[in-house]
Amino acid sequence: MGALLVMLIVLFLNGFIFPLFSPNRITPTDYGAFIERVDSGQVKEVMIKNGQIYFTALTDGGKTATYRTGAIDDPQLVDRLLAAGSPNESGKISFTQIVPQENSPILNFILMWVLPGLLFYMLWKQASRSLQSRMGGGNFLSFGNSGARIYADSDVKTTFADVAGQDEAKEALSEIVDFLHSPSKYSEIGALLPKGALLVGPPGTGKTLIARAVAGEARVPFFAMSGSEFVQMFVGMGAAKVRDLFKQAGEKAPCIIFIDEIDAIGKRRDSALGGNDEREQTLNQLLTEMDGFDGRKGVVILAATNRPESLDKALLRPGRFDRRIQMELPDLEGRKAILKVHLAKVKHDSVDLSIVAQATAGSSGAELANIVNEAALRAVRQGRHKVTTADLEESVETVMAGAQKKHAVLTPEEKRIVACHEIGHALVAAMQTASAPVHKITIIPRTSGALGYTMQVDEGDQMLLSRENLFNRIATLTGGRSAEELVFGSITTGASNDIEQATKLARAMVTRFGMSDRYDMMGLETVNNAYLGGDNSLTCSSETAAEIDREVLRIVKEAHEKARGILSSHRAILDEAAAFLLQRETISGEEFMRIVRKHTAAE
Ligand code: ADP
Ligand code: MG
Ligand code: ZN
Repeated sequence: MGALLVMLIVLFLNGFIFPLFSPNRITPTDYGAFIERVDSGQVKEVMIKNGQIYFTALTDGGKTATYRTGAIDDPQLVDRLLAAGSPNESGKISFTQIVPQENSPILNFILMWVLPGLLFYMLWKQASRSLQSRMGGGNFLSFGNSGARIYADSDVKTTFADVAGQDEAKEALSEIVDFLHSPSKYSEIGALLPKGALLVGPPGTGKTLIARAVAGEARVPFFAMSGSEFVQMFVGMGAAKVRDLFKQAGEKAPCIIFIDEIDAIGKRRDSALGGNDEREQTLNQLLTEMDGFDGRKGVVILAATNRPESLDKALLRPGRFDRRIQMELPDLEGRKAILKVHLAKVKHDSVDLSIVAQATAGSSGAELANIVNEAALRAVRQGRHKVTTADLEESVETVMAGAQKKHAVLTPEEKRIVACHEIGHALVAAMQTASAPVHKITIIPRTSGALGYTMQVDEGDQMLLSRENLFNRIATLTGGRSAEELVFGSITTGASNDIEQATKLARAMVTRFGMSDRYDMMGLETVNNAYLGGDNSLTCSSETAAEIDREVLRIVKEAHEKARGILSSHRAILDEAAAFLLQRETISGEEFMRIVRKHTAAE
């Protein structure tokens, strides 16, 4: 279709610019012959056109023929023609000059510029549309405007009541809420509120949730975008999107802009590998926009990340995200509160939350929400209408260790080993005073691969762990293997997870906690990405690294020795409890302690 149009227009243009002359036969001749014929009175008509003289004259045979000759600059030609006779009725030669017809300037303009322009525009439109559909949306080569529709949620229902715990964060944010309610109160006195606040913390601690809650509390529109949405295929697109976002937010002020996972664009710009043009442009645009808008207007920017250390310093300076709001993993009270919030959404009997909260140390809000939901699912599965404490306890284990494997094939011998192994852990834990009490022991295999486990639950949350605490923990971890050694005289693969954890703990004691005599308070390791599991990197020489290994080995060996000592001096308890566990498959910490107490009282 496009190609056809091009051809038509080219033909059309040709027709205008080079009009075709009449197709009659024209005989070329020379100027001399022309003059001669004029003078001899044979010429009827003369026409000068495009530097050519066309004339009709009588031939010798009495017919009329048309001739053509080049026009020469001949000032006497007109006189000559006037003077000459002609076979015409008037006896005069009729002569004209045809001035080449000029198109009107407007027409010319349209033909030369507008039409081709239109044509190219149409072709480009076509091409970009097909490219766009191939790329699956997005906008191709658009300038200044990202074309993205950015929706503001103007009726956010989330409030601070939905965010349990996190009181410090709520307190810090309530000032922003107040500001959004009545900006004038602040502008009157000349106070500038922080333009932005950065929510920082491990995944699942409610950063996204609390940002929505701020909008819900302030009852203002909520522009939410994820950092990755700004990272586009073409350089400049992300920046255009940022511009759009701030423009639209400016129109709806007071409002909240929320950029989730801001590390996607806010990464430090010093990367040695040349960097990423698109991302940097987007970041620069964001910095510019944050500087550019008027803080008194009532646009507050919230952002969330779990990798604060990777952010560009420019983002964190005053005037940008100068408030940093820490969202930490909930403590015991926080976990209770979060469980309560989520339990309110499901039907439940009276539930003992403190047991569940104690058993979930280290869990994030998202995990707790998941535990409540799993419990509700379990209740449904069992045809009940209400969630019970047992549902919650079971779902804690499901979330932590996987679902129960009901039909796992363990030989009786394997079962005996697993029972003995688990009692080994429990007994070592029980015999060390500075160690969390045993809550539950089970030898029902789990889908995570655990063949059994011993659950220890701290009464409260321990903020500080002493060297003794850590060492006892390592001893407890080695207790399983120690029991196998003592009872069966052989060892199994069952201790692999224990080994991993014990080594990690011992290493941390040496390299990060300064708990070895040898290195005193020297830091030997740094932790990167603390909120995302954390990977460690050694900051010492390779000789020291080898020494560290030796030190770690010494600690683990010592702990293992201690565990073996405890177990061999309480061998009777080990045997009885293991037999009891083997028979019951799951026993409570209380049942276990009864056996322990029976023996220790007799001693
Ligand atoms: P983040 O953004 O920090 O990774 P989210 O805000 O997305 O975490 O939290 C995920 C879910 O976990 C929330 O939708 C909510 O159900 C639950 N949650 C997390 N923290 C809390 C909390 N403090 N109170 C209530 N629910 C929470
Ligand atoms: Mg989030
Ligand atoms: Zn074990």
